[in-house]
Amino acid sequence: MKKIVIAIDGHSSCGKSTMAKQLAREVGYIYVDSGAMYRAVTLYAQRHHLFLPDDSVDAEGLHREMPNIRVNFRLDPATNLPLTYLGEECVEEAIRSIEVSRQVSPVAALPFVREAMTQLQQQMGETKGIVMDGRDIGTAVFPDAELKIFVTASAEVRARRRYDELQAKGMPASYDDILRNVQERDYIDTHRALNPLRQADDALVLDNSHLTREEQSQWLLERFHEAVQ
Ligand code: C5P
Repeated sequence: MKKIVIAIDGHSSCGKSTMAKQLAREVGYIYVDSGAMYRAVTLYAQRHHLFLPDDSVDAEGLHREMPNIRVNFRLDPATNLPLTYLGEECVEEAIRSIEVSRQVSPVAALPFVREAMTQLQQQMGETKGIVMDGRDIGTAVFPDAELKIFVTASAEVRARRRYDELQAKGMPASYDDILRNVQERDYIDTHRALNPLRQADDALVLDNSHLTREEQSQWLLERFHEAVQ
């Protein structure tokens, strides 16, 4: 069976990574969470005090640091899923905090950050057989991807899911803060100058507000089989 590139884009917290991970497992593809890469850069910036007192990014400082920011993935032997690393440190947990969520979109809007991450993502997809989720995968990273999915759900449904996820992990969370964060990220992601979040012309839309996980994965598998034929 021919190997393809699957691009899954969409709004924040609409379950893209869960569905992308599951699809990758079912079809034996590599899964790459491109948002984790932007989150790792943001974590690095926070740890190196690259946010100014007014909370904006010190773009010049971050630009200087870019050669030292080594974002990479390593497979977790227990789950066979990729874990996000900053250099030698596993940051998979640390990048999911609300603090990183709050500051990631302005970092991801910086052109030099996008260029560096896009280049890394394209290298990962060179041999195909990959499922990558993000905001610009079908439009900018892999414009020729054989299967493009654009996922969405209402902001309230997405905030509730994210809240439940953090609660389940025992991480402190407030539903109102999460809803505000989801809405702010939607705004920044869809309004940035370089590669904003938008549906690719040839993407298939999946609104999962009222779908169960099973219905969603069934739908995805059918699209996959159509695409590889
Ligand atoms: O997918 P996730 O919510 O973890 O992504 C975190 C942030 O990274 C997004 O809100 C967005 O600002 C940015 N991002 C991006 N392009 C991607 C993936 C994520 O700008 N391909």
